[in-house]
Amino acid sequence: MRFLDLPFARAAHDRAAHRRATPGLLDDLLKEQGTRVLVVRGTRVATVGSRVAFLPPDDVAHLATRALLYLGEADGVSHLGLVLADAEAEPDLDVEWTGLRTLDAPDLEVGLVVEAVALAQWHTVHTHCPLCGTRTEVTQAGWVRHCPADESNHFPRTDPAVIMAITDADDRLLLARGPQWDLGRRSVLAGFVEPGEGLEQAVARETAEEVGVLLDPASIEYRGSQSWPFPASLMLGFRARATTTELTRQEDEIAEADWFTRDEVATAVADGHLGLPGRSSIARSLIEEWFGGPVGA
Ligand SMILES: [Zn+2]
Repeated sequence: MRFLDLPFARAAHDRAAHRRATPGLLDDLLKEQGTRVLVVRGTRVATVGSRVAFLPPDDVAHLATRALLYLGEADGVSHLGLVLADAEAEPDLDVEWTGLRTLDAPDLEVGLVVEAVALAQWHTVHTHCPLCGTRTEVTQAGWVRHCPADESNHFPRTDPAVIMAITDADDRLLLARGPQWDLGRRSVLAGFVEPGEGLEQAVARETAEEVGVLLDPASIEYRGSQSWPFPASLMLGFRARATTTELTRQEDEIAEADWFTRDEVATAVADGHLGLPGRSSIARSLIEEWFGGPVGA
């Protein structure tokens, strides 16, 4: 595979974006018994066993709703997302609630859930017009918020963030710990792309800021991307080679940073001294690409 095969980037459904503007689309789909509705509660979704609960419209008609979303078509069936109005309240539904990060379901289901959670997060935060402060209305089957006062339209946002596996001349990997993380937990560096900046520039800048390491610009290589809707990131993965090894931490961002050989990672994971990011994360995929296979499997 040319790029990383990432868990949140394997969507198998058709978003059918052209249907979103169809007048009355959501009302019509709610009348069809074949329509399947996925219920979103914060960053969790309704599940039964280890599978996503795709419910018929009649089963969700009683729920207080923040937004209804047209997600697309799969296997000839229309799929909607229902964002609960209050993620704290316990809804009257006979299901379990599973966080997206720990959802272990088929790719088709995960793809629909990633889309639904990302849109849900946007609707939860972007409730008012940024121009005049009026409460906006959900239109275009959940894909636009419209301001009735000044007629402006507002679209779902995705914030680009770079994440990078940095190696030194001896092919050791840089792993760091954020100040709020448990002792032993480590990951690769990451940071938001700033306005006016290119991706490779962000990779070099974040690395220099966080640990004082300089990169060979010609070595910065794109490896793949996936949505990370906590709350609105698009993670863009890179690998790059450092030209310096001395580590100077930015103390409010980085509590610990060290270079690791593969043997050191394998040993530290095996004896429990090193905790790596979860398997759904792009960080884990970048680390395992460097490692040469699954770590701690
Ligand atoms: Zn407005």
